[in-house]
Amino acid sequence: MSINSDSLVDPSSQHELQPGLIGLGWTPFFARQLAGLEDTLQPARVLLASAARHHVQTAEGPRVAVVSGRLAHEAADRAALPTVGDWVGLRPGDGDGPAYIVHTFARSTCLRRKAAGPAAEAQVLAANVDKVFIVTSLNADFNLRRLERYIELVLDSGALPVLVLNKADVCPDPERFIEAAREVAPAAPIALVSALSGAGLDALRAQIGEGETVALVGSSGVGKSALSNRLLGADVQREGAIRASDERGRHTTAHRELFLMAGGGLLIDTPGVRELGLWSADGAAPAGFDDVEARAAACRFRDCAHDGEPGCAVRRAIEDGELDPERLGAYLKLGAERRYLARQQDVRARLEEKKRWKQISKRMRANPKQ
Ligand code: GDP
Ligand code: ZN
Repeated sequence: MSINSDSLVDPSSQHELQPGLIGLGWTPFFARQLAGLEDTLQPARVLLASAARHHVQTAEGPRVAVVSGRLAHEAADRAALPTVGDWVGLRPGDGDGPAYIVHTFARSTCLRRKAAGPAAEAQVLAANVDKVFIVTSLNADFNLRRLERYIELVLDSGALPVLVLNKADVCPDPERFIEAAREVAPAAPIALVSALSGAGLDALRAQIGEGETVALVGSSGVGKSALSNRLLGADVQREGAIRASDERGRHTTAHRELFLMAGGGLLIDTPGVRELGLWSADGAAPAGFDDVEARAAACRFRDCAHDGEPGCAVRRAIEDGELDPERLGAYLKLGAERRYLARQQDVRARLEEKKRWKQISKRMRANPKQ
């Protein structure tokens, strides 16, 4: 199927949901955006983003593309640049050369964390992810507080969390872990699996619908690579046509990449998240603590800090053994972190706005007619 020949017949047809794109995660959300863009732009999904060039997938197959100078220049910060999972608009390159990425579509979801280092900058891990498999292993790695942070990260992104408890084969009493996990994520599906034996993998696959994008996150060593190999089937998947044009050698999880699954879904591999820095844009209360917040609603003071105030329903719940004090601790700590980040971002936003106006006035001086 060719997009361009279709659009010759009826220009509006390009704005409908094209079958070749749906399998890549194309939805009405993106189709509506395309309707407002120039007709010749070809939509594509970013499979792999590197400084030099991007690998993208169009309805017609894989392509290599580079970010146009203008798009790079106009990006407010690194988080605005096209990254793995993004939908972008392509313009054909010269001859056999790479295509140009001239537009990034607004993201339906955005998985990000605070970039390593002190700057208040977000690092986008993946864009347009529908579900995130939070992988943990059923051994010493299992840690409820870390799980809470991952859930927070995922809920913030707009994606849905699925808890994947891996290495079931070496765990004699998985029920204990499932119960604990259910406490911190009552609404999230929980999958007990073993990448080694294959147990539970069919149920996990069933979580990934046609055209749905899934990302794997979790600490190093929990079995993300083993799981994604299982989900993707043969390693052939990683060595397709696009590999031939790739300058790198074998696949490693040191970079993030979007893979098309044989079963119809899409899978993003993310490297082990070393620094679990949160990123939130609004300084709002942390997500995923409905149980704590339900108690807090009954506190005598609306702005109760649950720190010894009279009539504190949260403290009472702890005394009654109905709420884990460590969970309250995590809630308070995450809240403080978010407020701190929001303050930092405020300063950053002001600086950025100043920089943007500088650029605009520079362009206006260079081109007085605009
Ligand atoms: P990653 O760092 O999260 O990508 O983890 P890997 O996939 O590299 O796995 C780390 C180690 O755990 C490897 O030695 C795997 O063989 C092992 N592993 C992965 N999944 C399982 C499993 O389900 N059961 C057991 N026993 N070992 C596993
Ligand atoms: Zn209180």
